[in-house]
Amino acid sequence: MVGHPHLMPREVGWIEVVTGCMFSGKTEELIGRLRRAQYARQSVVVFKPRIDSRYAVDSVGSHSGHRMRSIQVERSDEIMPLVGDAMVVGVDEAQFFDSGLVEVCERLANQGKRVIVAGLDLDYRGVPFEPIPHLMAVAEYVTKKLAICMVCGNPADRSQRIVDLGGRVLVGESEAYEARCRLHWQAEAFGPQQQPLPLGPNLAEQKS
Ligand SMILES: [Zn+2]
Repeated sequence: MVGHPHLMPREVGWIEVVTGCMFSGKTEELIGRLRRAQYARQSVVVFKPRIDSRYAVDSVGSHSGHRMRSIQVERSDEIMPLVGDAMVVGVDEAQFFDSGLVEVCERLANQGKRVIVAGLDLDYRGVPFEPIPHLMAVAEYVTKKLAICMVCGNPADRSQRIVDLGGRVLVGESEAYEARCRLHWQAEAFGPQQQPLPLGPNLAEQKS
């Protein structure tokens, strides 16, 4: 059964990586997997790096508003002591962690835990964003999510930074990034166009 992890870890753990560009639904996917584990009465815990303060301080949240209580840590070595009896360990925005996260995930999986890591695979310059590429290599399951290109509507796998601010790490939402396909992505092409981005309408909401 390739691609379909058992819901119940039995002594053997594993690593799942959920990756892709901005707006590809990585955090939603992470939260969905953790929720399904909770429905099966499995204990879960979620970590995120302290750098990401976009949403409520103590929760993992997706752009679509799904939210889950999380623990913020500065460094990957703070994770192990906080995992406790959790059967499933989630890590969001993992690209902002130090390289020690790889060993932490491997140790947790070796202890029989299911580890689910979500994060960007490329930075805005198109450079692989460690430790995600390394985690993808050691993971049992890798899911690469795609967004939709803001220019042409084709599947998008890159994050276009649309403002000229900050360094490699610019934590932002729709005012700072757009999802773009290979054809419409350009590393340094910052432009004022389309900020802030409105969400496409949900026509069901207009009926009420
Ligand atoms: Zn495109």
